[in-house]
Amino acid sequence: MKMIQDFNFKGIKAIVRVDFNVPLDKATLEVTDDTRIRGALPTIRKITGEGGSCILMSHLGRPQGRMEKYSLKPVLPVLEKHLGQKVLFADDCLGESAVTMSAALKPGEILLLENVRFYPEEEGKPVLPDTATDEEKKAAKAELKVRQKEMAKKLASYADVYVNDAFGTAHRAHGSTAVVADFFPKEKIMFGFLINSELAAMDKVLNNAHKPFTAIMGGAKVSDKILLIENLLNRVDNLIIGGGMTYTFIKARGGKIGKSLCEEDKLDLALKILEKAKEKNVNLYLPVDSLNADKFDNEAETNVSAVDEVPDGWLGLDIAEKSIELFSEVIKNSKTILWNGPMGVFEMQKFSKGTTAIALAIAEATEKGAYSLIGGGDSVAAINKNGLADKVSYVSTGGGAMLEYMEGKKLPGIVAIRGE
Ligand code: AMP
Repeated sequence: MKMIQDFNFKGIKAIVRVDFNVPLDKATLEVTDDTRIRGALPTIRKITGEGGSCILMSHLGRPQGRMEKYSLKPVLPVLEKHLGQKVLFADDCLGESAVTMSAALKPGEILLLENVRFYPEEEGKPVLPDTATDEEKKAAKAELKVRQKEMAKKLASYADVYVNDAFGTAHRAHGSTAVVADFFPKEKIMFGFLINSELAAMDKVLNNAHKPFTAIMGGAKVSDKILLIENLLNRVDNLIIGGGMTYTFIKARGGKIGKSLCEEDKLDLALKILEKAKEKNVNLYLPVDSLNADKFDNEAETNVSAVDEVPDGWLGLDIAEKSIELFSEVIKNSKTILWNGPMGVFEMQKFSKGTTAIALAIAEATEKGAYSLIGGGDSVAAINKNGLADKVSYVSTGGGAMLEYMEGKKLPGIVAIRGE
């Protein structure tokens, strides 16, 4: 596999899939968080700095056809500011402007193509009326797959090499994230620096973890995290479970959970996880106490109870002091830490204490030499909110993509370049 750090881009035109799916202010359409744009800068700088030219492509949002509010134009000024140079813009990724502008691109120049999702070919998902039959759906999908190949072939024709640096969409088999790679020889496709560092961080934790290795799983539902939990049980020494999924486990063990979140159809599964943890000698920690509310509201009345004694009519929305103490102790004694998902409804100030305490314990362990990987939108938000981003080892940019990779799934955008 070609590595970007070993490749010389002098005189080379590169088409780079980046993740510029940034949040925009609804009224002004200005970029409100440029983290993803900054993530792509090292790759862009390497290419142009060596005298190559760069054609950038990305999606933004979920447009249905061409919709101006999903245009990538607002990204231009931000990109230009960071790079300190003019960036050209083609207002259609497949149209005449993209063809002529990419052909005319000179060494050192950068061209941004308009949103690749303005074409349904990108995702390969046909938009059909509800009344469409299964046959019609199948036929439309097959036809769109053919057009997806044509789109990818056209994008590939703009450049000499393909660089994928969009980790956030690496779990999608889309035209610009995976199919396009088929139209280049193996020695002309590679990952950018961002994907390389994401893969290195995840592989370190999955395959090279210093022990004790502790995974902290939180968030709303067991069903969303089950595959990850199962994969981690083969690797971790400690598994801490918090957040909404706590109460499914507690109920499965016969506890009282009041009105707390519970997936009734996952009770058996929760028991199986507890059993499997025992079999694998994994210390599985559940909260021991619960901060309860009389309603799902920041202004709610609260009380603290044992986690299996939540009063009738109350709902557990955060872990409480004893759990914080227990979890923090385990975290601080760990050498490798993976965190995915908040410990409570951290969006509400009243129920954010558990999540903040976990973030602080991870930062402290990291300072003492542990390696910590934080993934998933909410855990990353909690780390950022507490100003701890540079106090942990790695903050992943790809929520869904990270989850799938850590579950052991093969991501199309990764396989397209690295192979099976
Ligand atoms: P996820 O996307 O699965 O990581 O879930 C994140 C969401 O879980 C956040 O929006 C939290 O508010 C929510 N959450 C965490 N703890 C609880 C809880 N005890 N009850 C209900 N929702 C929770």
